[in-house]
Amino acid sequence: MSRRRRFAAVSFVLVLGPVSALARGDRICEETLAAAGRRFFARVLDADGACARAVARGRLPPTTDCRGAATARARDAAARALARRIGAACSAGVAATFHAGGDCARARTPGDLAGCVAASHDADAATLVAAAAGGQTESDAARRCAASAVRQATDFAVARLRVLQRCKRKPPADVAPGTECAAAERVARRIATLRSGAAGKIAAACDGGRGALGAPCATAGTAAAAADCVLDVARDTGDDVLAAESRDTGFCGDAGAAVERRIDRLLSRMTLAEKIEQMHGAGSTPGLSGRTAANTRLGIPGITMTDGPRGVGVATGHATAFPVGSAHGATWDPALEERVGEAVGVEARAKGADMILAPTINMLRHPRWGRAQETYGEDTVHLGRMAVGYVRGAQRHVIANPKHFAANSIEDTRFSVDVSMDERTLREVYLPHFRAAVQQAHAGAVMSAYNKLDGHYCSENVHLLHDVLEDDWGFSGFIESDWALAVRSTVPSATAGLDVEMPSPVYFGQKLTDAVAAGQVSRRTIDDAVRRTLRAQLCFRLDTDPPVVDPGQVETAPTKALARDVAREAIVLLKNSAGTLPLERGTVGSLVVVGELAATANLGDHGSSTVVPTSSVAPLDGIRAAAGGIAVTHVPGPTLSASDQAAIAGAGAAIVVVGLDFRDEGEGLITHGDRDGLGLPRDQDALVSAVAALNPRTVVVLEGSGAITMPWVDAVPAILMAWYPGDQGGTAIAEILFGDVNPSGKLPVSFPRAEADLPPFDNVSPAVTYGYFHGYRWLDRNGVAPLFPFGFGLSYTSFAYAKLTVSPATVPPWGRIRVTADVSNTGARPGDEIVELYVGYRGSRVERAVRDLKAFARVHLEPGETKTVPLDVRANDVAYWDDAAGAFVVEPITYDVAVGPSSRDLPLTGAFTVAP
Ligand code: BGC
Repeated sequence: MSRRRRFAAVSFVLVLGPVSALARGDRICEETLAAAGRRFFARVLDADGACARAVARGRLPPTTDCRGAATARARDAAARALARRIGAACSAGVAATFHAGGDCARARTPGDLAGCVAASHDADAATLVAAAAGGQTESDAARRCAASAVRQATDFAVARLRVLQRCKRKPPADVAPGTECAAAERVARRIATLRSGAAGKIAAACDGGRGALGAPCATAGTAAAAADCVLDVARDTGDDVLAAESRDTGFCGDAGAAVERRIDRLLSRMTLAEKIEQMHGAGSTPGLSGRTAANTRLGIPGITMTDGPRGVGVATGHATAFPVGSAHGATWDPALEERVGEAVGVEARAKGADMILAPTINMLRHPRWGRAQETYGEDTVHLGRMAVGYVRGAQRHVIANPKHFAANSIEDTRFSVDVSMDERTLREVYLPHFRAAVQQAHAGAVMSAYNKLDGHYCSENVHLLHDVLEDDWGFSGFIESDWALAVRSTVPSATAGLDVEMPSPVYFGQKLTDAVAAGQVSRRTIDDAVRRTLRAQLCFRLDTDPPVVDPGQVETAPTKALARDVAREAIVLLKNSAGTLPLERGTVGSLVVVGELAATANLGDHGSSTVVPTSSVAPLDGIRAAAGGIAVTHVPGPTLSASDQAAIAGAGAAIVVVGLDFRDEGEGLITHGDRDGLGLPRDQDALVSAVAALNPRTVVVLEGSGAITMPWVDAVPAILMAWYPGDQGGTAIAEILFGDVNPSGKLPVSFPRAEADLPPFDNVSPAVTYGYFHGYRWLDRNGVAPLFPFGFGLSYTSFAYAKLTVSPATVPPWGRIRVTADVSNTGARPGDEIVELYVGYRGSRVERAVRDLKAFARVHLEPGETKTVPLDVRANDVAYWDDAAGAFVVEPITYDVAVGPSSRDLPLTGAFTVAP
């Protein structure tokens, strides 16, 4: 591991940050990339578009593959020209620190940049042309429509790109911090004019011939809708192109240069004491979790913080209690998570906070981890996509703060444990989701973890904070410590890259001042840290748009409905023999609800993630409200009297609500900490077995963070996993029991048959080593069948999978593969299905997982409906970390693709090959 120090990185920060500070070489590379990239995109669009138009007009056979031989020469020539121009304009040194965005976020050499821009633009061109021309030639009218759509959409995409690139070079003053050129008034007007001209022409040509367009525009209802659809695709692919060939401007958007100039001025006016004041918390803050100080002399607002992630923390009073993170993970719905992030952001601001200490995105290495409930699950791709949703949504209102960086997956020893792992495991398993939160969602802050990684506390870990986060990922936000015991030093922490000590100054107050005076911490290190916190404050406009306390924005009806929607999507139907569920109100007769937890709104841990709503719905309340007049009796247990037994035996169905609560798992040393085992506590196994023996129609509703072992699994016909389902959880549970809502959640964590099937969980030793495998990847490797596999969940309807396509069959190392699967609802109820794509590796030179999740999608299907579900994989996604190269490497081998409803049920298979 490199041990470069912070002051050596200052030049890098200056290169990364202000555009005005760019050296000439950087500027030339940047401008060449933009011009050459756009030219490449236009040439490929021209070639593909000409081919598509010729097909539409009947001049080429309908079977022509416009991505194949018909256009290969033109595309190859364009790629060669692109590589030449980038090679001439971008030196190795410039490319290494360029930090492009989008598809090219990993490119570090001129060759990488050329390959990546070409592959990314090529795939975008293909997507755009395919949307504009479906290849059908049924009628002259259809041909005219396709030809016009291709011409107009491709011209619009390129013209829009040119306008945005011009703006990015010199952003006008009305581009506010944190916003993009596309939002600037003049730019927006120019693009709108271009768009309406193109839309008018497409609509005129398509009146009567819309059948010619391809996915996703083939089904547009009117000519105007068809035009809109194609131009939306042009906009989106254009944005993708722009991201891949431009320097990533992060959360500052296109106003970054102006913000940096303002920071320069502020730094020049700040005293050392004022600077150091920005580098630590200001102690306990009533109504908030904490804050950093404002500086009224200089108009620096400071940052007010509140806890997350399942809602706004209890320090601020009442708030909507969403289901916990693992429940969100079970929705497999990043779009819904974005709405959650947004709703939590609104509530946080309405409480006076401008930063939310969320999301928790630590890897769930073992289900006994006390904070398992806070994170999304055991797979890095899934975790990353959910995190991106939350951060994007939240950051429309507040700064988000993904935590705890990194390898924080044990509670009982969290303040001291030294976690070791090899670099490949770190890069491939424990970090990619943080990388997604930083590079894709542009998180404004990251919280360092309590524990040590490879012998160094995370808050003073040069490799983690400097080499990976700042240097490799180009993170431009600030790093704050976890609270209270995460900072253990002054000089090592400051020089490693920690920017803010929370919640109050122990090492970053007087001790830091002394260290600067003694020359142990340079003034440049201080300036760099202060620049980062100021950048976040100014780019999120905390100075001009501070939060306004507004109780009317908290626990609103739409937010409560959103909490219910999450619970509905999160509940997993694990077992349902002989159609036990849903319960028919007309025939079930009576219900007995068993268990103490049935009458409790079981919201989760009582640690820092605690949220207290003004009211909540316990399962029993929800069931009573939904029962529609059916008699509902409650038997709390755990011991069953003779009359309890009679009530259970005599009911039409028994619903047993069992599981964990805050007494069994939670944050370390504040609450229970790690779980003692994977079984149900407090004799609840015996309770389930007793009820099942009395009533053959026993439904078990489980609550808790995740995997639970079930010695009684064969004795009960139906099982639901409800997690900690939030303040509307009781309603959602009842809706699923009665079939008002079709269950659609899937497990984001494997449920093993026994704890011994998993890697050991050691929450006692001062040092632990994490291997490359855990969760489903561990079970697959060891050939051990889980009780319920990762990605598994049943429905009241049924789905069929057919017709896998993988295109193209061979891609370059920076290429993109489009996989599609036809998924049909073959049952009688509408429902959502989560479609999962896994990749396996043929003949890899390193040990790989049997399969890794690489993509997924949630789709809604009416009975009898079939949808073609697209799932994209980038060749980059199947790379492994090569220690010798110090980089991710995409092996030129064949990759197996498997698609289906769970990690252990993958009916569709195919493959693609990465060319050398
Ligand atoms: C937790 C963090 C939390 C912080 C502030 C720490 O103990 O680990 O997740 O954000 O406290 O409450």
